Amino acid sequence: MTTAARAAALRQRAPASASPIHLEALYGAHNYHPLPVVLTRGAGVYLFDDNGRRYLDMMSAYSAVSFGHSHPVLVNALTEQAQKLAVTSRAFHTDQLGPFLQTLCRMTGMPRALPMNSGAEAVETAIKAARKWAYKVKGVPEGQAHILVAEGNFAGRTTTIVGFSTEAQYRDGFGPFAPGFSAVPFGDAQALEAAITPHTAAFIVEPIQGEAGIIVPPEGYLKAVREICTRHNILMICDEVQTGLGRTGALLACDHEGVKPDGLMLGKALGGGLLPVSAFLARDDVMAQFTPGDHGSTFGGNPLAAAVGLAALQLLEREQLARRAQEQGDYLMAQLRLLNHPAITEVRGRGLLIGVQIDPAFASAREVCERLMHEGVLTKDTHHTVVRLAPPLVIERAQIDAAVAALQRVLQR
Ligand SMILES: *Cc1c(COP(=O)(O)O)cnc(C)c1O
Repeated sequence: MTTAARAAALRQRAPASASPIHLEALYGAHNYHPLPVVLTRGAGVYLFDDNGRRYLDMMSAYSAVSFGHSHPVLVNALTEQAQKLAVTSRAFHTDQLGPFLQTLCRMTGMPRALPMNSGAEAVETAIKAARKWAYKVKGVPEGQAHILVAEGNFAGRTTTIVGFSTEAQYRDGFGPFAPGFSAVPFGDAQALEAAITPHTAAFIVEPIQGEAGIIVPPEGYLKAVREICTRHNILMICDEVQTGLGRTGALLACDHEGVKPDGLMLGKALGGGLLPVSAFLARDDVMAQFTPGDHGSTFGGNPLAAAVGLAALQLLEREQLARRAQEQGDYLMAQLRLLNHPAITEVRGRGLLIGVQIDPAFASAREVCERLMHEGVLTKDTHHTVVRLAPPLVIERAQIDAAVAALQRVLQR
């Protein structure tokens, strides 16, 4: 029997009461390898499985749940707006979009914002803006604009974006890819400058690389990149989909070096952990390249997303969550280093975006995450050897202590 026939037979026999994991396996695409836990509820920093067991969430959906699960203020904004008006398309104005964009721009210090849904869409928007700016403002010959990216980048999963990934698996089998991109080593400003040509439109970079394994560039890198981009008239575009909105202990990770990019992508936490909300923000002369009909999205900037996004930004400011991420992150990092465990070869990161490098001779990061799950702590490995610790920014000291104690227990075995 072929694999497909076997699966079809299993589907025929599977009752609706089969386990959710079994149903996913039978009916879903196998594009993820989740930990074997079935979550049914979340509250603050905790998640609950189908047996009512409680787990500490040390990953917050790759930083999308910075405010904790089902924050009452955000759930309230969501439900109130959903009862009034949720989706209109951008064919009409709504009372929600303007105030959301105003607050987003005020807080980030960027003049204009274009709302989208997923992070990948914000990145695609940045690519379109940079290319058109290069043709219309910089004077690059039509069709020749070139964009530099960093090795180890992660910017989403569209075909254009995986086309400039340097991760073999992200690309394998998905070509042909869009031309016009090349990668330079991350953290090396000289390599960036050497790669610039008269046709270079932009450099797209994460201030700290998340999916690559929480890679923090050398001190002064962003400042040097800013200086080089200005000198060569190329756009510095920062992908802060993961690092933005307080995660690293500042509103933007760029703020740590006092650097202001020409373009900026936000996502993940912008939706308050409830909805996909993203945005591309930019200088006036860059955003001015978009005219009616150039670009858009059916759901981008819908009133439900705008209401939740605005509430999330207000909550971030009111609760000073960036400062909290700094304090709690410093504490978590210090506690991890105090473990002084031979299986941990490095602890790195900034704020509450932390990577714990595990010696593969001891265990794979996946194995460590599976053991942590049995200890009531949920997180996910990245790049086989790194355990990511990026809890909701509202986490308390005692909860951090519990997570560190759990890690110590699983490393002792
Ligand atoms: C997650 C991520 C994206 C893509 O966001 P999606 O919402 O998954 O499309 C882009 N850039 C960075 C840095 C990310 O971490």
